[in-house]
Amino acid sequence: MKFEDIAGEACPFCSRPGPSLKYRFEDCAILRCHGCGLMWLHPRPGLEQLHKVYDEGYYQNKEFFQKDGNKLYGYVDYLAERINKQYDYQRVVGRVKGMLPERGGGPDGKPRWLDVGCGLGFLMDVAFDQGFQVQGVEFNRSAIRYIQSKFTYPVEYGLVQELKFDGTFDVISLFDVIEHMNDPADSLRFLRGIVAPGGVCAIQTMDSDSFMSRLIGKRLEDFRRTREHLYFFSRRSITRMLNETGWEVVDIRFVGHTFQIGDLIKRISVYGGWIEKLAKALVHPRWLLEANIYFNPGVKMMVYARPK
Ligand SMILES: [Zn+2]
Repeated sequence: MKFEDIAGEACPFCSRPGPSLKYRFEDCAILRCHGCGLMWLHPRPGLEQLHKVYDEGYYQNKEFFQKDGNKLYGYVDYLAERINKQYDYQRVVGRVKGMLPERGGGPDGKPRWLDVGCGLGFLMDVAFDQGFQVQGVEFNRSAIRYIQSKFTYPVEYGLVQELKFDGTFDVISLFDVIEHMNDPADSLRFLRGIVAPGGVCAIQTMDSDSFMSRLIGKRLEDFRRTREHLYFFSRRSITRMLNETGWEVVDIRFVGHTFQIGDLIKRISVYGGWIEKLAKALVHPRWLLEANIYFNPGVKMMVYARPK
């Protein structure tokens, strides 16, 4: 990717021309808008190419740790991460619950939760346990088949802005989803139309301007997922996009995840093989590798917004 290739580009959100080339990869680059600070992948893959990424292999990608950038997408073993993910989700669901009015908008008085990009349904499962009436939308057909074989929650296939929903939702969540959307502003505008008064939108995504993100730069896993990550938000750019699509940000904070220590070591070792050697030498007793740890490196943010 040469600089001349981006000369005619303009920001897909605020239309400002002349972005800077932030990170360069072999056959693509990440550009940054001087106006709103949004970063995006150039060229952006079409829906056809994206369908090839979101298949069965997405949740069990055995080649995840190879050096080849084309293999870095999805999850090594998403099902194995279920317990830890749900542990983290409980905290968020509890927090969202505290932000809602007493009575929800469902027919039985239960609050309604729409999880956009619901994956294998792990978040819906937690929200359901905490008293929500849940519903999901997903772009990966194999994930929909999985959910239908395990749960009774309604889940629809497609791009959210092209679907029809009955009534409004008290909570709309997008966990590690907005960076994958082909037109995030359009999706947020649509979601604004189906959120209940006093409702909440919870968005989890990477903060492209955080100290750690800038420090690690193009070696950061989130930037290297060039088959699926199309947009990269900062606190400033997500706030602006939410403001301009009818939302008001009420809270933004860094969020970490619970990892098995051994898995965490493996993941951060992509930044240098010595990390794995050193960590393995230091972690004693050995069973500690199977223990869980909450790790918050200041890369991911959780954004809570309400309708304006
Ligand atoms: Zn812009």
